[in-house]
Amino acid sequence: MELVRKLEILADAAKYDASCASSGAHRKRRNGGIGNAEGMGICHSYTPDGRCISLLKLLLTNVCIWDCAYCVNRKSSSVQRARFKPEEVVKLTMDFYKRNYIEGLFLSSGIIQNADYTMEQLITVAKKLRESESFGGYIHLKAAPGASPELLLEAGKYADRLSANIEMPVQKDLDRLAPEKTLVEIESTMSDIKSGIDAAKNSTKRNGDAPLFARAGQSTQMVVGATESSDTIILHKAESLYRKFDLRRVYYSAFTPIENTNPLLSEPPTPLMREHRLYEADWLIRQYGFTASEITHGARGENLDLEKDPKLSWALRHRGYFPIDVNKASARQLLRVPGLGAKNVARILKIRHYHQIKLEDLAKLRVRLSNAKWFVITADYNPSVYQLDAEKLEEKLKPKVFQPSLFENLSNAALSGEL
Ligand code: SF4
Repeated sequence: MELVRKLEILADAAKYDASCASSGAHRKRRNGGIGNAEGMGICHSYTPDGRCISLLKLLLTNVCIWDCAYCVNRKSSSVQRARFKPEEVVKLTMDFYKRNYIEGLFLSSGIIQNADYTMEQLITVAKKLRESESFGGYIHLKAAPGASPELLLEAGKYADRLSANIEMPVQKDLDRLAPEKTLVEIESTMSDIKSGIDAAKNSTKRNGDAPLFARAGQSTQMVVGATESSDTIILHKAESLYRKFDLRRVYYSAFTPIENTNPLLSEPPTPLMREHRLYEADWLIRQYGFTASEITHGARGENLDLEKDPKLSWALRHRGYFPIDVNKASARQLLRVPGLGAKNVARILKIRHYHQIKLEDLAKLRVRLSNAKWFVITADYNPSVYQLDAEKLEEKLKPKVFQPSLFENLSNAALSGEL
């Protein structure tokens, strides 16, 4: 098979991995315009210092001996198969890099013979790039669940990031949809990666210098909506993964029935807004000091509210926590005010050393006052709006927080081919 055809097949097959979330868009240029967006090939990621970089996103092969029902590459799927030789991936990466198309490589793979053999093939690519080509760009390698600790330690020497996908929050879901996978094995892989990262960090502390090991940490992905597991279960699982394995990110991928996922073809697609709300909740856990229990406890139903962001939902359920005096409150309290982001909280803490903060100061900081004004007191603003109970307040906030449903309708229309 020609290299270009392999590239078409294996870049397309890689697009379902959400770890590079920007790689799903298709757009054809208009007459006289420039550039087409393809749903595959190059995606974006963030380096440890926060830079956004372009990655060549590929599978080494879409041949797989496992049979995960939600995956287009599963053993029983009828998709056309292809497989790169490691040196072909090295060549493609170097060619694209030299032309300035990409700054790195995201390489995943179906399970070829077993987890160890697959891992060895992935390592061969990364090792050749680093040692034979002196490639200094970013490399994200997929960690095959159950690969031996020695191979994971080897992979971490060449990769900036490793990711073992957990896919489902509970074993019952894996038993049903990915029978070859176990949470125990996947978490053991994460644990091995964490050990490598910790050892490198400790060695750096002790000796000032240490061999590099997955400097951009590890991440994982969960498929949302292919089973009945609720957002409550998903968020508690994510929280426990962050705590146990120090993950940089959990990615959420809304389940979409696609051609060749026959076992689940009759299942409805998960609304993209559900995925979006999970990302918002995840952000609150990682950056705002919320726990999964706080975000989900008392929510209506087991899933997050699609109509309101999780922070506003929490604030409405905890009306007694407010008002918060922006001139006196702690950072933790301020971070719980709807409409106040982490950057503005840091600015407020600085500004109030110099003068009392008024409502106009919040406006100058571009705080979303339409939300925040119902939850704060400032030096010149202490209205009686706090008399409003949560229900009346929710009614008042409704028109502004319903806008995303348009996005959701568009997404569903696009999935059903109406657009
Ligand atoms: S292991 Fe499962 S998710 Fe991964 S490529 Fe194979 S079938 Fe797909």
